[in-house]
Amino acid sequence: IPTTQIRNFCIIAHIDHGKSTLADRLLEQTGTVTTREMKSQLLDDLALERQRGITIKARAVAMQCERNGVTYQLNLIDTPGHVDFQYEVSRSLACCEGALLLVDAFQGVEAQTVANAFAAMEHELKIIPVINKIDLIHARPDEVAEEMMNSLGTDPEECLRVSAKTGLGVDDLVDAIIEHVPPPTGDPNGTLQAMVFDSNYDDFRGAITYIRVMEGTVRKGQKIQFLSTGSTHDVVELGQFAPARVATNELAAGQVGYLICNIKSLGDVHIGDTVSIPGDHAAEALLGYDRPRRMVYCGLFPSDGQDFSELRDALERLAVNDPSFEFEPETSDALGFGFRCGFLGLLHMEIVQQRLEQESDVDLVQTAPNVTYEITNKRGETRMIHKPQDVPDPGEIEEFRQPIVRCNIIVPEDYIGAVIKLCQERRGIQKNQEYLGAGRAMITYDIPLAEVIYDLHDKIKSCTRGYGTLDYEMVGYEAADLCRLDILVNGSRVDALSVVCNKADADRRGRAVAKKLKQEIERHMFEVAVQAAIGTRVIARETVPAMRKNVTAKCYGGDISRKKKLLQKQKEGKKRMKAIGSVEISQKAFMAVLSGG
Ligand code: GDP
Ligand code: MG
Repeated sequence: IPTTQIRNFCIIAHIDHGKSTLADRLLEQTGTVTTREMKSQLLDDLALERQRGITIKARAVAMQCERNGVTYQLNLIDTPGHVDFQYEVSRSLACCEGALLLVDAFQGVEAQTVANAFAAMEHELKIIPVINKIDLIHARPDEVAEEMMNSLGTDPEECLRVSAKTGLGVDDLVDAIIEHVPPPTGDPNGTLQAMVFDSNYDDFRGAITYIRVMEGTVRKGQKIQFLSTGSTHDVVELGQFAPARVATNELAAGQVGYLICNIKSLGDVHIGDTVSIPGDHAAEALLGYDRPRRMVYCGLFPSDGQDFSELRDALERLAVNDPSFEFEPETSDALGFGFRCGFLGLLHMEIVQQRLEQESDVDLVQTAPNVTYEITNKRGETRMIHKPQDVPDPGEIEEFRQPIVRCNIIVPEDYIGAVIKLCQERRGIQKNQEYLGAGRAMITYDIPLAEVIYDLHDKIKSCTRGYGTLDYEMVGYEAADLCRLDILVNGSRVDALSVVCNKADADRRGRAVAKKLKQEIERHMFEVAVQAAIGTRVIARETVPAMRKNVTAKCYGGDISRKKKLLQKQKEGKKRMKAIGSVEISQKAFMAVLSGG
């Protein structure tokens, strides 16, 4: 197929606005999949994605359709819709010439609509505004077209109106794609240059690399090179998804498809990398390849120490399929042997946890998530810190920096006050506020990521009765008045309970944790001191008084069986005990404190 007959496009939308449903309709109406074969939401093939209704990994499907005797190839590149996967979104957009900007005719413009639309504009894609769900009784397409104009500058006259559910308007949409999305440029005879925009792992074939060919042609059997690592491979198979894998002999400039090269680990395939020919005559690398940035870390521990190796196996299996997830062994006095895990964001963390639970039997304990901090010490050395207990003592710190994100929040105007109050409390700095029309506003704040991951999303949902939506992007690192807050039990630091917090909050948080932990610690033969401290400075103290009598003393007299029972109970409790210095604390106690936030 000549490049003039190829159209590469994606669908961008806020979650639940109908992206997957529209993809299904396009596959059906172009005859790529027959109605009988149609399994709803074909593109979301991971069971988990279907469950959660989100598209986690980008995919690409080639569709054929005929207009006036000419056959066109429409390549739909499915982008992940969530901010945690922003880097993957950006790589997918770089493979398209156009984007369908899909907005729900009832919900209107939402936070991710705006974030995704701006990203598409940055990539200079031709944007086709589409209003979906016009079959709904409460659809308000005219108002939504106006909101789109106010927030995104799209022309209301150009908005197509469709129902992805019934198929109404979808044929016109296909016409619009052919007419308005520019065909790709690029010379099939040039030097091979292709962008890796996704990959997944197949147990039988190894890594499957998704590419968009920018220049030249890649052929079966040839040698290729990944420019970021310089590694070379033979192309064993290549082809397109229609939507199952269909092998071809070559992929030329403008086309989208897959490569299989006998690569045994997904870790060797980098999203954003460039594929070219080996040797000195390779093409230039496309846009700098960026390593996935893990923004959120937490500890995962098996609640029963026996399950450590089982947990390790499960994590290894997951990492094979998701190179942006990272883990390393970690030992904790409180929780035993486990792993420190890094994620792209909160949603990514939730997804990984959920998969672990579904795919293994390990019962997990998770420590409170924290962000990555940047610390410059007195000697001028800068280090990234992934866990609070690694923060140096206060005297050694020159500057303590934390990640800041720009949050776009879209709310009905009645809730503006509540949302602003919330953002101020979370140390936000207001950047903008504008009306979108129809009584809705977009509020922009710069907020520390640590405050966002804590519970901002839930809080916004609850203070707007579910109507508020939030999206964020990384702005950078900024210095702040932060400290490491430690919890000591009879003078020994409990590593799993250290947190980083603002100095202004340290007293309150320290007191709360000390109090909670005191309640959870059983009495010992001696007094137990629970302290909160910043460096050597103690800011809160609670005391667990010494036990007055022997446990069994109260059942003096002959009741032996009751005595036995008590001792048995004590023994069982001991199984899950961890020693902090000479103090024994049950794992349940740690979990109670950790989950208390
Ligand atoms: P995504 O999160 O953007 O992929 O959204 P989905 O395609 O999963 O759709 C979210 C929900 O909206 C599903 O329950 C769909 O059945 C429904 N939906 C999608 N398109 C339409 C439409 O045109 N009309 C109606 N009434 N419902 C729709
Ligand atoms: Mg979907």
